[in-house]
Amino acid sequence: MSALPPGSTIGIIGGGQLGRMLAIAAAQLGYRCHIYAPESDSVAAEVAAQFTCAPYEDWERVRSFGQSVDIVTYEFENLPVDALTPITAVVPVHPGFEALRIAQDRLNEKSFMAERGIATAPWRPVASLGDLEAALAEIGTPAILKTRHFGYDGKGQARIMDAGQAADAWASIGEKPAILEGFVDFDAEFSILMCRSATGETVFWDAATNIHCDGILATSSAPPAGIVAAQAEQARTIAARVGQAMNYAGVLALEFFAGADGPVFNEMAPRVHNSGHWTIEGALTSQFENHIRAICGLPLGDTRLVGRAVEMTNLIGADADDWQVILADPSAHLHLYGKDEARPGRKMGHVTRLEL
Ligand code: AMP
Repeated sequence: MSALPPGSTIGIIGGGQLGRMLAIAAAQLGYRCHIYAPESDSVAAEVAAQFTCAPYEDWERVRSFGQSVDIVTYEFENLPVDALTPITAVVPVHPGFEALRIAQDRLNEKSFMAERGIATAPWRPVASLGDLEAALAEIGTPAILKTRHFGYDGKGQARIMDAGQAADAWASIGEKPAILEGFVDFDAEFSILMCRSATGETVFWDAATNIHCDGILATSSAPPAGIVAAQAEQARTIAARVGQAMNYAGVLALEFFAGADGPVFNEMAPRVHNSGHWTIEGALTSQFENHIRAICGLPLGDTRLVGRAVEMTNLIGADADDWQVILADPSAHLHLYGKDEARPGRKMGHVTRLEL
């Protein structure tokens, strides 16, 4: 793949904070960005050269967007892949939509890993209450029922502590196609952030140790210690295999549970990821910059950690109101995404602190 020269235009499908941080990184390298998103108040569009505000299913608008850019990437996982796939005949798309097809359906994702012998929680597909009861009989409790599609930040999930809760759990996820997962008794959660260029050059950042609150990422820190440090290499090997199998280009995030017998794959995101936001100040090259480099066919930048340690804390909902308090600490790097409404559970920004 020949490099896309600076001055070219990168199309980004999706208009949220990940697109915003990608567009900022792209601008630093001399690229222009064109955002395609349905929401008129896109926080990515605010920092990009061009914006098409239209539904993902509007093929005419998607096609003219594709014709106006030199390459396309995406920052949002719940895209209608079938509606968007024709754009691949207009302009190159990285990462390929195949990765998105796998990641946006928990059944596809788990099957993909099972076919490769990658450890996951025990799971069963569930399409009815009868399936759920049968799956609970096999897997036991505690277990988690997760919708196959459109689940994020703990949404579309129900914990089942006792088989008698099956009907309530099935109703609570809206009786949608799902999988039942056995509960993993983990010591820690961590993610592996990998960047792979179209030529197969692969780099990793330090494994991030993640703490979730109410299903939403609260903090990510690096470098790893203890059990996460012990399992990081094995998890990287898994990530490299997954990237190779998908012929992947761009940043790929894989989330793991650190279990007693080694890393247990939880889920993946074929995009830049919240648990990699610390790389903006905490690594020599951020996940955003390396994603742009990878999709544009440029050499990848050094991913080593800056300083001794780094921690990123998400600002959820009203947390962002404390911006003045945060800025009073001169070592705090504040990122606000420019969102108007601080709804509970909404990611409004993040703060990164380095230990030098
Ligand atoms: P997910 O959306 O699948 O990443 O789930 C959100 C969070 O719920 C995870 O980060 C874990 O903290 C927890 N969780 C999800 N699946 C399991 C599982 N099978 N066993 C234990 N905890 C889980």
